[in-house]
This record gives sequence, structure tokens and C-alpha cells, in this order.
Amino acid sequence: MRVFDHPEFDHHEQIVFGSDAASGLRAIIAIHDTHRGPALGGLRIFPYASEAEALTDVLRLSRGMSYKSALADLPLGGGKAVIIADPRRDKTPELLRAMGRLVDSLSGHYITAEDSGTSEADMRYIHESTAHVSGLARRPGESGDPSPFTAHGVFCALQSAIRHGLGRADMDGLRVAIQGIGHVGAHLARQLHAAGARLVLTDIDQKALELLAGEVDATTTTPAAIFDAEVDVFAPCAMGAVLTADVAKRLQAGVVCGAANNQLATPDVADLLHDRGILYAPDYVANAGGVIEVEYQRHEDYSRKAVMAHVERITATLDEIFERAGNRGTSPAAIADELARERLLT
Ligand code: NAD
Repeated sequence: MRVFDHPEFDHHEQIVFGSDAASGLRAIIAIHDTHRGPALGGLRIFPYASEAEALTDVLRLSRGMSYKSALADLPLGGGKAVIIADPRRDKTPELLRAMGRLVDSLSGHYITAEDSGTSEADMRYIHESTAHVSGLARRPGESGDPSPFTAHGVFCALQSAIRHGLGRADMDGLRVAIQGIGHVGAHLARQLHAAGARLVLTDIDQKALELLAGEVDATTTTPAAIFDAEVDVFAPCAMGAVLTADVAKRLQAGVVCGAANNQLATPDVADLLHDRGILYAPDYVANAGGVIEVEYQRHEDYSRKAVMAHVERITATLDEIFERAGNRGTSPAAIADELARERLLT
């Protein structure tokens, strides 16, 4: 397995492989960049088919966190951790404590948080071995879940995207298709409904789908048909790599703006969307609300008002990206990457 000439290697500062025989831990932590601050990024537990697959994921995701925090103007770098395991079968308190010790060995250069396969309860076990954990409830009875802030950030991103992509100033009557109504998608659906949008929802969880559709007066469709929905906006809020070349050709929407990480299956799909006149809000700009809240949670003087004000700056960041992209005739994804790299150097 190669690291320094791996296609996803981007001069990552540190890549740490850790193991613990007693708990069965096999983990990789990648610290991409710490010029702006400690590398914050979630811990993913996934039954990767191979170590090579886990390495690819952690290299890509950690760079994504650097870009996300830079464009959200946070004093944070980018990092990510993965454990090669099945979260439903292998996740034990011992495994999580061992992971905490590995995180602790990096003395705060890497700060961990929830990601797929991990929960706030898991973070509490990790916290037994290290202080370098975010995404924990601040007080008993509160939740450390950043999803409502992520959803609000996507809503703010949409304000910019519909202005630039559709020439619209408000969401009254705006037709939005939401793919995935989990933690983020459900909050987003409620906020859009309150703003007057008309929603089409899909999810693989049929029961949750019907319940939410009733609540927000939405229509529903199958996961396979969501791409063909006659809507103004497509909001991917389920999984990554959803924007394939085929989907880019099928979409009826004029704007793509959602919460999912790594929405572009391959970078060239950004150009396909651009060529079809579909405005794509780069995922790591639109979905930064959660990491903004997680950063504020780390400080004693936490203020929800300050978090919301920071999250709402996503609108202006996207305005700048869309304007630059418009002036240069290029995709917003290319401009976002360029801006992020500029910020990592300054
Ligand atoms: P979640 O697991 O709560 O929700 C995902 C939903 O998508 C689930 O309801 C699931 O049933 C559904 N789903 C899965 N496959 C599907 C398919 N093929 N078609 C339709 N629906 C499908 O996750 P979440 O926390 O809401 O996050 C959603 C996305 O946003 C993820 O990609 C995540 O990485 C990203 N994200 C989340 C946050 C956050 O604060 N939670 C922050 C940044 C990015």
C-alpha cells in the first residue's frame, strides 16, 4: 500500500496508523493541514473491504475538512479518522477507549467528533481517554448534535444559490427535492416548508418518509426517481458520490444544494452540471454549519447567537464563489477549491 504517491495524497502533514490487540482496534488518523489551527474532523467507523480503501477515504475526507474549515473561516485545520470495523457488530467501549488513546497520542493536533458509524454516546467513551473530542453535549439534557446547524447552513446556502441560479429572492413556491430525510434532511425540510417551499421527499426509510411528508405537506417519490423530479432545486442529504455523469444529465433542477459530503462522484461532474446550466453549491461550503457549531462548542463562551451569525455567513461566501465563477465562466466547485487553497496558504 503506497502513501506518498497515493492519488489522494495531498501533502498531508501526518498519517497515523494505530492498533490495539485487546480491543481489535485498527485505525488511521490523517491530519491534512494545521496552518489555520488544530485538525478537526469526525471519526468514521466502517467495514472497509481493505486497508487501501480506508486509507483512500481518510486521505480524501481529511483534505475536505481543511477546505471546509478554511472556507467557513474557522481557526481549524483538517483531519479525519477511520476505524476499520462494522459499527453494528464491533463497536465496544474498549475499542472506543483505545481510539481515545490514539487520538490523545497526537496531543491535540487532531480533534475528533461524530461521523457516520459514531454517535455522541461513542464520543463519551473516547472522552474517557482524551480531552480532544468535540460534539459532546455541553450540559446534561442538551444534545451535541450539530445537524440543525448544518441544515440551517444549507438553507443559507440555498438563499445564495437560488438568487444566482434562478434569479429568485425568496422561497415561496420554490420546488425542492430532498434526497434523504435523516438528521439534516428533516430539519431542512421543516425550515423550507416554513419558508413556503413545495417539497418532494425521498428516503429508503418508508415509515420516516411518510411521517415527515405528512408534517411538511410534501409529496414523496422513490429513491430511484428523485433525480427526475420536476423541481427547481435538488438537495442531496443522504450519501456521497450521488452526482454521477448520468445523474447530471437527468436532473430537472436548476440548482443543486444539499448537505451530503463529497457529492460529486468524480470532479468532472462539476463541469457537466456547469455545461447544462445547473448551479452547483460546493458541498463543503453549503454543509459547514455543523463544523462551525462544533468549533464554537469547544469554547467556554459558547453563544448560540454567535454560532447562527457565523453559519449565516455561508450565504456571502457562496455569493463570492458564484460571482467569481460567473466572471470566469467556470464551475463553482473549481472556484471553491481555489479559494480554499488560497486560504490554507495565508
Ligand atoms: P443520516 O444518516 O441521519 O441521514 C441520511 C438519510 O439518508 C437517512 O434517513 C437514510 O435512510 C437516507 N438514505 C440512505 N440512502 C439513501 C438513498 N439511496 N436514497 C434516499 N435516502 C437514503 O445522516 P445526516 O446526519 O442527516 O447527514 C446527511 C448527509 O450530510 C451525509 O452525507 C453526511 O455526511 C452529511 N453531513 C452531515 C452533517 C451533520 O451535521 N449531520 C454535517 C455535514 C455533512
